[in-house]
Amino acid sequence: MHGGLVVLLVGYAFLPLADTTLQLLYDGTAVLALAIGFWGLHTYRPTHPRGWLLLLAGLGGWVTGDLIWQAESWNGSSFPAPSDAVYLASYVLLGAGVLAMVRTRRSGSDRAAFLDAAILTTGIAVLTAVFVIAPVGSNVDLSTLAKVVAAAYPVGDVFLLATLARMLTSPGSRSSSYRLLMAALLVTTVTDVTWNLLVSLSGDASPDRRWTNVGWLCGYVLVALAANRPAMTQVAEPAPPSDVRPFGRRRVAAMAVGLLLPPAVLFLEGLDGQVDAWPVIAAGAAVMSVLVLLRFVDLFSVVQTQAVQLAALARTDALTGAANRRTWDHELSRACQFARDHHRRLSVAILDIDHFKAFNDTFGHQAGDDLLQQAVAAWTAALPSGAFLARYGGEEFAVLLPDHDVRAAHAVITDLGVRTPLGQTFSAGVVERPDLGPNNPTILVAAADKALYRAKRGGRNRVMTATSTDLFPAQQPDGGTDAVRQSDSAQR
Ligand code: GH3
Ligand code: MG
Ligand code: MG
Repeated sequence: MHGGLVVLLVGYAFLPLADTTLQLLYDGTAVLALAIGFWGLHTYRPTHPRGWLLLLAGLGGWVTGDLIWQAESWNGSSFPAPSDAVYLASYVLLGAGVLAMVRTRRSGSDRAAFLDAAILTTGIAVLTAVFVIAPVGSNVDLSTLAKVVAAAYPVGDVFLLATLARMLTSPGSRSSSYRLLMAALLVTTVTDVTWNLLVSLSGDASPDRRWTNVGWLCGYVLVALAANRPAMTQVAEPAPPSDVRPFGRRRVAAMAVGLLLPPAVLFLEGLDGQVDAWPVIAAGAAVMSVLVLLRFVDLFSVVQTQAVQLAALARTDALTGAANRRTWDHELSRACQFARDHHRRLSVAILDIDHFKAFNDTFGHQAGDDLLQQAVAAWTAALPSGAFLARYGGEEFAVLLPDHDVRAAHAVITDLGVRTPLGQTFSAGVVERPDLGPNNPTILVAAADKALYRAKRGGRNRVMTATSTDLFPAQQPDGGTDAVRQSDSAQR
């Protein structure tokens, strides 16, 4: 069936036939294309048939328009005629059909694709207004009604090109049917523009239609081929979310063409030293600037939101939601700096869950994960305000306790031990930041770690305080500060 349609089209283009036979061949091919299109809709029954129905109704309108036009030309053609009304209404049906298909391809808003298509369309609209519509307007032989109708055709073409631009920028699969439809829109609009130029340049209301007829017939045949194949059901299918690429190469190319059209038109218009169409070009450029601005505002707000989300992800531990090691390092040095500058107390604790490997081996890794999550939730709820908990790594956690001396810190951490879920325990080392000596945050953590080690060695499930030797290994134990001596007494 498809092959027959193509043979008829080629026959119409090349066979040396008499005018009446040619006419019959044109009509036969057009009606057959329409029938094949509807047959495809009937055979494949897409889940979203509305777009196809509108599209084929539009095609039916054009075929009807052709038949009426022929009847009109037997009685001597006049312009505008009833066939023009049928043709023009069919543009609306056809464009609406394509837009209905594009809309179901993506659930939710598709503002980026809409704006990109609008940018391309504005460029094409400027081109058409200057080179196609303006000559019609200045044609003194035409009545006002004739001018309006003559100008409506290129407007219809711009509308069809806008739908083509929407197809180009739409996400989802480019099935063979989808490509055939895009080709049909392109061939039809190119033929229309050629016809318009022929009429306006030659001044002849009915130039030889054979080659433009080939173009229009080709459009009909492409629609029929698109409709009569299994892939037609995919044309209006929603795209998978991963397919939505707001800045694909195709998009950028479409935007570039749109953006370059007004300056190109300005250049061509200015070649003869006179730019009559400057208001149209200026308006087009202004509209396009606004569209591009909207596009970039959207894009930057997406980038900004993602940057905030990424920063939050980079700060937290994915399993427990506690701050991660990177954030801990940052917060620790900030807290040390603050305590030193304002002469405030600061304690640090390192916690390590006891026999966690055995817990994992007994209850499974998932249960181990759950324990880590529950422990973080329980400890966070119990910590005083201003305290900061981070996952230091594995089943080790670190706590910052601003304005806590080592005794108070020891009490807070001992209290956390009681709250550890599922009857589990931890060992911990605490240390208070000394006012004297080197003030390197890593020294604090190392000292707390040594105290933790002693807690493990001492039998686990306990909190130990760091000694001055833990803090200043090179010095004698009695060379420590008051704060460290306090730590020692708390340990005893
Ligand atoms: P100790 O009392 O001496 O601390 O013994 P332990 O078993 O707790 O310590 P060890 O260092 O031998 O083992 C730590 C275990 O923690 C081993 C590792 O599989 C487990 N672990 C580390 N990170 C995770 C995690 O994210 N989820 C789970 N389920 N287990 C983890
Ligand atoms: Mg450990
Ligand atoms: Mg452990």
